[in-house]
Amino acid sequence: MGKTLVMKFGGTSVGNAAAIGQVVEIVQQARDSGEWSRVAVVVSAMSKVTDKLLAGAQAAASGETVQAERLASEMWEQHIAALRELAPQTPEVEETIAAYLDEFAAICHAISILGEASPRALDAVASLGERMSAPLVAEALTRAGIPACAVDAAEVVVTDEVFQGASPDMAITQARVEARLLPLCEAGQVPVVTGFIGATPGGVVTTLGRGGSDYSAAILSVALGADEVWIWTDVDGVMTADPRIVPDARTLPDLMFREMSELAFYGAKVLHPKTIRPVIERKIALWVKNTFNPAHPGTRILPDNGVTHGAIRAVTAFKGQQLITVEGRGMLGVPGIAARTFAAVARTHTSISMISQASSEQSICFSVPLASGGAVTHALEDEFHRELARRDIDRISASEEFAIVTVVGAGMRHTPGIAGQIFGALGAGGVNVIAIAQGSSECNISLMVAAGEADAAMRAIHALIE
Ligand code: ADP
Ligand code: ASP
Ligand code: MG
Repeated sequence: MGKTLVMKFGGTSVGNAAAIGQVVEIVQQARDSGEWSRVAVVVSAMSKVTDKLLAGAQAAASGETVQAERLASEMWEQHIAALRELAPQTPEVEETIAAYLDEFAAICHAISILGEASPRALDAVASLGERMSAPLVAEALTRAGIPACAVDAAEVVVTDEVFQGASPDMAITQARVEARLLPLCEAGQVPVVTGFIGATPGGVVTTLGRGGSDYSAAILSVALGADEVWIWTDVDGVMTADPRIVPDARTLPDLMFREMSELAFYGAKVLHPKTIRPVIERKIALWVKNTFNPAHPGTRILPDNGVTHGAIRAVTAFKGQQLITVEGRGMLGVPGIAARTFAAVARTHTSISMISQASSEQSICFSVPLASGGAVTHALEDEFHRELARRDIDRISASEEFAIVTVVGAGMRHTPGIAGQIFGALGAGGVNVIAIAQGSSECNISLMVAAGEADAAMRAIHALIE
């Protein structure tokens, strides 16, 4: 039967001709190694392209179409410069890219007339980046003598209609992958599939959410029955912290599934949080590696096996959060307040990242994304209007912007005094902790701090990692 390898290359990894040259070498090596009977590639949009597409659409919604024109010409330059270097004289690919940029201009025009960009329109726009990069990468591979062809994931990944955060229907996707991708692989071709996107059963393009190309790689690995999936990015693997914030962060040789899930959920951008579970459940080996340093082994994500190294393994943070507090002495011992609070939040389709309740039950506080704070507060005022009128609930309030800093390590549960060390380090660093929550798995401790203190908090905690 032979083994199957899926490799995903992120935005920086396909960001210019030199980077794509690296991708070609990596694919070549995988083929030359003789280890893999089938190799499939998933690509992101070239770096910054998704941001530009979305910025153009947002500007169009507020009536500025010049912005979209300027961005379209920047994106054209970026793609064409790479194409001309890697595969000169490829009018078909140039035409494909031009056609997608025309589509971008047309959708932005429509958005400017409507004066608003719906989630569906934003997905149509955002999907164009991967649709431009895939033919470019496929052409570069072909020119280097590797038979390759671009595949639009809208033809294979079938999703629900939740625009900007769609979930796949694995049964239909599996059938499409078997019909469309597998024959290519069997014929010795390398399919270059667009990450990030899918389509509803009716064929309307959706996206899996920002950073979703990692998730695409997971979906396709499962559907292809892959043995391994390698996520190629721009750092040596999963690190003890984001190296942009903590300069002395180190690469972790391995990390357990639970640890990686917590890190990803709490903001470590290196892997999309939905990537990990499907891959681990199918026992597909998952690696994170550096396109620009392929000799480095990277990080292996392991199934939870009970073996733990060290106590604190990594620290992460995500900003843009708001603390919502429901408080009042009349809440004391009254059953059902928490249930009603969270039901009201759920009606706004907001997801809560962290919850903390004082033992006196006089207050419940939890965090939501800044953008949802207003809607959540209104929903709660609505739900509790009687309690508010009777003064059983004194206040429903929303804080300033803050950040959640999460400390991760499966070994923390066996190590006494970790929380003490963390608070000691934060105290010495002058960071004020607003609220705390510890996961029941004890694999993570999350702390809310003022947004402006998040970086200092990460550095202080990072210094505790052995
Ligand atoms: P790609 O485009 O390859 O998907 P991303 O930008 O989405 O790349 O993710 C890689 C980036 O994630 C790194 O450049 C790094 O700045 C950031 N990052 C955040 N936390 C971590 C971490 N713990 N380990 C490694 N990288 C991290
Ligand atoms: N291009 C998409 C984004 O920037 C998906 C990805 O790169 O994973 O969000
Ligand atoms: Mg990413």
